[in-house]
Amino acid sequence: MSVITTSQLESLCSDVVEKLVRLKINFLAIDFDQTIVDVHTGGRWKESTSELAKHVRPAFRHLIPMAMSRNIRIAVVTFSPQTGQIREVLEIAFDSSISDSMPIRGNDKTWTYTGNGLRLGKQEHMASAAEELMTRPMLGVTDVKKNTTLLIDDDPRNIKKCLRDGTRAVWLNPMDPNRFLDDILLLE
Ligand SMILES: [Mg+2]
Repeated sequence: MSVITTSQLESLCSDVVEKLVRLKINFLAIDFDQTIVDVHTGGRWKESTSELAKHVRPAFRHLIPMAMSRNIRIAVVTFSPQTGQIREVLEIAFDSSISDSMPIRGNDKTWTYTGNGLRLGKQEHMASAAEELMTRPMLGVTDVKKNTTLLIDDDPRNIKKCLRDGTRAVWLNPMDPNRFLDDILLLE
């Protein structure tokens, strides 16, 4: 695993956002457990949310605000039912202007996706979050499509299902958690 300073990470994230803009990606769907945070809660986190917020990976502390400032919308897509806790973690880790504009889709039975898209893996979570973003015109998103969406997830099974469904995806390797940034720079 490569060691990286904060300023190197910032400049890498800035390059990544420019790359996303060039690729016309307007929607980042990001997994929570072992992706945004460096732990797996198993959907059963018992400690405080402020403790969990300390586990937000540095890459996302930089990438999420930078991407939003370029009009890229972001949602959390997770199989965890603890979406209330995830919402609190986002509120602690980010400015409210950022956390408030991030939909969360988890397995909390608060939503159902009724569109025609695939229900495998994270596909329905992404489709449902994209629908919400498109109904919030103040966010400036008019059209989120499969080819303008990118999933970031540590579970290779979700990555495979996503790619099979024609949506872009990059794997976050928990053993080398900044590597996905380089992988985004390699996307075509
Ligand atoms: Mg995960």
